[in-house]
Amino acid sequence: MAPRFCEVALPVPLRTTFTYEAPESLTELVAPGTRVVVPFRNRALVGVVLELANRAPEGTKVKLISEVLDPIPALPPKLIDLGRWVADYYVAPIGEVFRGMLPPPVEMESERALWLTAAGRDYFAELSARGNRSEAEITDHALLHLIEVEDKPLRMSRLSKLPGGEAAAARLLRRGQLEARDLTRHRKPRMRTIVAWNPEAQGETPRADEERIRKVLTSERGPLPLPALLREAGAKRSAIDRLTRQGKLLMWQEPQAAEDDWFEADFTPPANVLNADQSRALGEIEGWLAAGEFTVGLLYGVTGSGKTEVYLRAVRQALDRGRTALILVPEVALTLWLGRLCRAWFGSAGEGVAVLHSALPEAERSREWWRVRRGEARVVVGARSAVFAPLENLGLVIVDEEQEASYKQEETPRYNGRDTAIVRAKLESAVAVLSSATPSLESFHHARIGKYHLLQLESRVENRPLAPVEIVDLREDFRRTHRAAAISEKLRTAISEGLAQGTQALVLINRRGYAWSVLCRSCGAAVQCENCSISLTYHKKRARLVCHYCGYSIPVPRRCPKCDSEHIHFFGEGAEQIEERLRELFSQARVGRLDRDTARTKREYQQVLSAFAAGRLDILVGTQMVAKGHDFQRVTLVGVVSADTALSLPDFRAAERTFQLLTQVAGRAGRGELPGAVLVETYYPEHYAIQLAAQQDYPTFFERELHFRRLMHYPPFTALANIVVRDRKVENAIRWSRQLAAFLAPQESRGVKVLGPAAAPIARLKREYRFQFLLKAPRRTQLSRILAECLDFCSRKEIPETAVLVDVDPLSLF
Ligand code: ADP
Ligand code: ZN
Ligand code: ZN
Repeated sequence: MAPRFCEVALPVPLRTTFTYEAPESLTELVAPGTRVVVPFRNRALVGVVLELANRAPEGTKVKLISEVLDPIPALPPKLIDLGRWVADYYVAPIGEVFRGMLPPPVEMESERALWLTAAGRDYFAELSARGNRSEAEITDHALLHLIEVEDKPLRMSRLSKLPGGEAAAARLLRRGQLEARDLTRHRKPRMRTIVAWNPEAQGETPRADEERIRKVLTSERGPLPLPALLREAGAKRSAIDRLTRQGKLLMWQEPQAAEDDWFEADFTPPANVLNADQSRALGEIEGWLAAGEFTVGLLYGVTGSGKTEVYLRAVRQALDRGRTALILVPEVALTLWLGRLCRAWFGSAGEGVAVLHSALPEAERSREWWRVRRGEARVVVGARSAVFAPLENLGLVIVDEEQEASYKQEETPRYNGRDTAIVRAKLESAVAVLSSATPSLESFHHARIGKYHLLQLESRVENRPLAPVEIVDLREDFRRTHRAAAISEKLRTAISEGLAQGTQALVLINRRGYAWSVLCRSCGAAVQCENCSISLTYHKKRARLVCHYCGYSIPVPRRCPKCDSEHIHFFGEGAEQIEERLRELFSQARVGRLDRDTARTKREYQQVLSAFAAGRLDILVGTQMVAKGHDFQRVTLVGVVSADTALSLPDFRAAERTFQLLTQVAGRAGRGELPGAVLVETYYPEHYAIQLAAQQDYPTFFERELHFRRLMHYPPFTALANIVVRDRKVENAIRWSRQLAAFLAPQESRGVKVLGPAAAPIARLKREYRFQFLLKAPRRTQLSRILAECLDFCSRKEIPETAVLVDVDPLSLF
């Protein structure tokens, strides 16, 4: 007999799976990896089957699976293994791990609905029989009547149409006369019509409008959505109908997706001949692919040394061997650029390229996801979560800019996409290549001790020089001008010289908004967020003060909220202000800005970036978004405004971050034929991170920083975990962290250092008070064991699971 019991991972913040039984009719359909709809605490949830069993665990009441969603399992077996590893290694709730791995559940829609209980039926009968009713009873009666006559559950969204309906529903629910449960139903994806020219069509197209349609569909654009075709060809609907009747057009339906994909202009990547370094690196990767064994390579080469070129060719080889390939990039913006490159390289050969990231609309992400699952796309380009792309027979994983903090998910499950990619490669006997100009200390250390293979590209392609970096001492600027100007005299001069020569400038400022803080000159108070211990950032265009952590915002106050003084003062420049200054200083220049405020959608990103790439902007100001990856050929000047903002953060990686960011952004200058220059403004010109970044001296920086890490017992010499205890009530947070301290302190005798409990650097976040412990263990196994024991301890002490947040290999200690 087929197994009837299933272990299901459900999207709830709990560390267990749940057992369900497949009814007779569904036993054939359930398999590990299939998504199922199951009842859970009066709700209907979509979960995924991890395992089958013949017997139910004893002593539990097992419910039935209500529906099976997939004809083939959504997750291939290797991904189930990977998900289990993530849950285990990052001590994360297993259901939440798998939620992040599944396609968005676009085919299901669920809504709360109200059902009559037996008590409700009695009450309805009683009210109906009674003549005089109070006002509340009249509403109750109307509501119950609606459910009774329609003889089906009432969707909550309809309550608003009934005056007093919401209050009545709450009342009836409280009294047990109604019951709320989820109502699920299948949602039809929105479809649209795609039109193509029938290649087998015979006969002439005598009419001019018909000829125009043929041209657009064949030589100019290829198949198009119907509205786009009408627009592009300037055609009428009647012409389309006529051609369809003649069999000259093909039409089909497909799920609605973002239009951008269809509008990507044709693009041919340059056909470069690899230089000696590149060939050597490619040769090595080729050898590993041929061996078919798990191998990790670190591709280390200065910015502009042609790393992308190397790994795209490696992808080609993996495909030629019949395997699939995954390329991870640190930013959504880069998926667009690299996705386009990959489509040009591999798309036409029928291998199919899919782009996956969390900013895609659900329907589009689902479509891309299933293209990969069905094997229609064999190359995936994506951001962090694409590490879970359902590719099978994976041969090669590339992690571009492997050091980037954005690979770490800062919410549960707190996995690192790079490290997960390495484990995935291991599970699939694949090759992983980490690529960077400034590798993380951990990765470079692994390469040095032989755990990874080092592939080095020594110089920029065609021996282009790296742009010289000059440090501008802002203290000196201040002494001379007696003004604290964010844009120094030197930078101003350099920009205007560039403008005169018709080249472009890139200005990096690593803060969003107009001013990062609003201070009162009378009482000294900064205006703080109501929910977090963080000062609010002034956004001029929105005319609001905004919290960058929780989104809370208020109108700009005229007076100090504390002491009512009028002397409030905006302090610290952000990107919005620098943009304004640049417009004032260079009124003839075209200035654009790229940060999370101007680029909220994929389309906005593309607009700003392509305007700059096409030379429609002279100066681009932005946050770290502008620092990464882009290959702008006409940028000769890169200016960094206040390079040191990160150095003052309480984080042992502050120096490393600063070094990486400066090196990255400096690498944007002088990539084309024109030589470049970089100006770095700072108040700490002697800091080694700034000095060594200016010299672009990674090896020296690495040695220095590694020494410090060894001395201070930080990674890569220890395994690190951060435990945060949090609650809205400060008493709870204190009590629980004391209990936890009693458990953790004795672990010191086992050689694990425990720092804390201490107030977290952001002591209050989203209304919760937070205390933290930092654990440093000489060995990984020790750390895992202690974390597991720690969670057991919490459940014994009845400390809520959601109050204890564990971050393994944390990248930020906030
Ligand atoms: P990286 O990723 O190391 O910063 P890229 O791979 O983006 O560098 O290459 C930088 C630029 O150099 C790109 O415009 C690329 O087309 C070009 N390029 C790469 N390899 C070569 C080569 N062998 N000869 C000439 N140009 C090259
Ligand atoms: Zn005040
Ligand atoms: Zn806040």
